[in-house]
Amino acid sequence: MSKRKIETVCVQGGYTPGNGEPRQIPIIQSTTFKYSTSEDMGKLFDLEAEGYFYSRLQNPTCDMVAKKICELEGGTAAMLTSSGQAANFFAVFNIANAGDHVVSTSAIYGGTFNLFNVTMRKMGIDFTFVSPDCSDEELEAAFKPNTKAVFGETIANPALRVLDIERFANAAHKHGVPMIVDNTFATPVNCRPFEFGADIVTHSTTKYMDGHGAAVGGCIVDSGKFDWQAYADKFPGLTTPDDSYHGITYCERFGKEGAFITKATAQLMRDFGCTPAPQSAFILNLGLESLHVRMARHCENGLAVAKFLKNHPKVTWVKYPNLEGDEDYELAQKYLPNGSCGVVSFGVKGGRKAAEAFMKELKLCAIETHVADARTCCLHPASATHRQMTDAELEAAGVSPDLVRLSCGIESADDLINDLAQALETV
Ligand SMILES: *Cc1c(COP(=O)(O)O)cnc(C)c1O
Repeated sequence: MSKRKIETVCVQGGYTPGNGEPRQIPIIQSTTFKYSTSEDMGKLFDLEAEGYFYSRLQNPTCDMVAKKICELEGGTAAMLTSSGQAANFFAVFNIANAGDHVVSTSAIYGGTFNLFNVTMRKMGIDFTFVSPDCSDEELEAAFKPNTKAVFGETIANPALRVLDIERFANAAHKHGVPMIVDNTFATPVNCRPFEFGADIVTHSTTKYMDGHGAAVGGCIVDSGKFDWQAYADKFPGLTTPDDSYHGITYCERFGKEGAFITKATAQLMRDFGCTPAPQSAFILNLGLESLHVRMARHCENGLAVAKFLKNHPKVTWVKYPNLEGDEDYELAQKYLPNGSCGVVSFGVKGGRKAAEAFMKELKLCAIETHVADARTCCLHPASATHRQMTDAELEAAGVSPDLVRLSCGIESADDLINDLAQALETV
């Protein structure tokens, strides 16, 4: 079959029913699977045959949805996880062990920053954070002999910085390590990081992919392009026998197209069990069916709201990558020509206090930690999601104390603007 367009994949990817089979993907709500002989099951355990044996590792419903996201991103293998946090943890921990090091941009989601800077440090993995605007020399200096990956977000949450994926991927490849890109905010509808050299893509599917605030989830997709074997010394987990899996060498058995996801499933899912419920995968798939339609409206509303705020006397600054004059406008033209996302951040004149007062007056826009929902929501990160960060860390992550993050839903832009206007009137 010829390569299908992204709109078609959103609706029909991942599952093609046969004659008389259910039109919608079946929810296989079963922890275990039955076999006729122990030998049959043994082959599955040895990864010699394909099939399911226990839903902690793999479940058919989850795999159908992973397959759809894999096709959307243009990858070769994918897995769902129980959250975006689990996806980023697995993506890094699958190749970085105690004593290893990772380069990450500093403009990343607060939860990911915490995962890297606190929890994974406790596991003995070191991180160097670099600004998305760092010079080539600074980026070069961040690498160490034990560096195993480079990490960044296509559009940073909540800083809305656009990552120069090509530049960071080139630096990663020069040092023989993969580029991992969290593509949550852009979604494959607006950017496909593999086309710019990224090797692994992660998602919090909780955001636009689900899009209805209904199911927490994550996904990891492998481009199948990174040649682990060419840097075998750096990635022994993929290129030498796994004693915990009957001596399998993932690269040998599954090639560069399948080694990464198979290892993450066989080792990390087995040991950590961050698996999504089949029911959650089904809900995620309903969201994916309209992703392309919703993203267009999210972007349309985001741009309309950004333009309104830009011209409002009570707004000191607006950050939206597709707004002309934005610091990332050029990068957005390159990486996000059809739009970025529905999230706009801005500062209310009068700083922290004024921002809080403004939020109280909003009627349509609800105060939530969530973003990327069909319903418009907003947040003041300095007093909520990012409150554990020091001022310096906030600054590095691009989050100022007066920043309001507004996630434009798919309602009428007129109604959103009217709500913002009446709330700004009161401050
Ligand atoms: C929300 C988010 C995460 C974490 O995802 P959860 O599903 O909440 O665990 C990771 N990265 C980005 C960019 C996010 O927005």
